[in-house]
Amino acid sequence: MNSHNINTNGFYGEFGGAYVPEILYSTVKELEGCYASIIESPDFQSEFHRLLRDYVGRPSPLYPARRLSERYGCRLYLKREDLNHTGAHKINNAIGQILVAQRMGKRRIIAETGAGQHGVATATVCALMNMPCRVYMGATDVERQHVNVERMRMLGAEVFPVHSGNKTLKDATNEAIRDWCCHPQDTFYVIGSTVGPHPYPDMVARLQSVISAEIKSQLMEKEGRDYPDVLMACVGGGSNAAGTIYHYLNDPRVRIVLGEAGGMGTDSGQTAATIHCGTPGIIHGARTLVMQTSDGQITEPYSISAGLDYPGIGPLHAHLARSGRATVMAITDEEALRAAFELTRLEGIIPALESAHALAMLPKMTLQPSDVVVLTVSGRGDKDLDTYLKHTDIINTL
Ligand SMILES: *Cc1c(COP(=O)(O)O)cnc(C)c1O
Repeated sequence: MNSHNINTNGFYGEFGGAYVPEILYSTVKELEGCYASIIESPDFQSEFHRLLRDYVGRPSPLYPARRLSERYGCRLYLKREDLNHTGAHKINNAIGQILVAQRMGKRRIIAETGAGQHGVATATVCALMNMPCRVYMGATDVERQHVNVERMRMLGAEVFPVHSGNKTLKDATNEAIRDWCCHPQDTFYVIGSTVGPHPYPDMVARLQSVISAEIKSQLMEKEGRDYPDVLMACVGGGSNAAGTIYHYLNDPRVRIVLGEAGGMGTDSGQTAATIHCGTPGIIHGARTLVMQTSDGQITEPYSISAGLDYPGIGPLHAHLARSGRATVMAITDEEALRAAFELTRLEGIIPALESAHALAMLPKMTLQPSDVVVLTVSGRGDKDLDTYLKHTDIINTL
């Protein structure tokens, strides 16, 4: 059987690695040398799991969705990451990386954010831990995501608007890497998804793997077996999906189905469907699939969902797609909106627009009534209410 885990050089098949400026080489090597032993240490594990329980509110429920199950003819469970403190799965990773930073003696935290969700999670944990926090954010995103900027500032973080390039996530990332180059001794760069140079994709996947560890024991209790037939999640950079599938990667009984953001459609030029439209290249310090022009300029992605609007994809997911281990669907804005209203009206749960891209795959699947399906609802929809209100006409077509 093929292993889909990372190899000792930080690659998943042909994707991954650490392509960083010379000046960061020793900093990245230092992290690579210690992250696994820190995360596995009893001291880390006990503090991490104590905070996940008492602060985040874990374990998150595995909810049997009765009415959605009836509609799609399967046994559907929703993994409720939307119920976490701060409203999404990102807090799991932010807590984990900041505990790693503390154990490495790094006192200053930096992060980049696009929609602001990772920035808010990082600022939250920095407030909790009394650590200084600077968040880089494209100036366009600062305007578009004003509420999250105010949340970060209220939490005590310094939000630094970036005016270069298109003034969005890619530019914020470049600026964060520049800062890291200037302060490699005392600064820890908290990356919000399974992207970036090795060891970040593996570190983030391990920290989010609490999701699939919980799915195992919760399925055992509810179904008398510890694996589902199908796992479903949305992918932006890939962290909620990586957490959902982590303990099942090498289990051939489990089908993996991932939804990326098709935007206006994969042929429209207005899309963030990196696995469908990307080609191999280097972004954010890793070799992966990238949305780029034929001469290697990164193209601006588009999705209605700010959290999926990223021109790259985690190297793990690029590998799972290319090797056939995962099926990846591109979901349009309209399909995602429809799925969000459907979940709201059938189960009384308003999902994040990102999570709606996972739900929107259900009508496209062939399922048996006996199939046990676990779908991760990565976050709650409060932040997307303005967008939903512009599209309430969809309710009449459900
Ligand atoms: C950020 C975000 C995502 C996308 O990030 P992944 O790393 O792919 O999980 C998905 N859902 C929500 C709610 C988010 O905030």
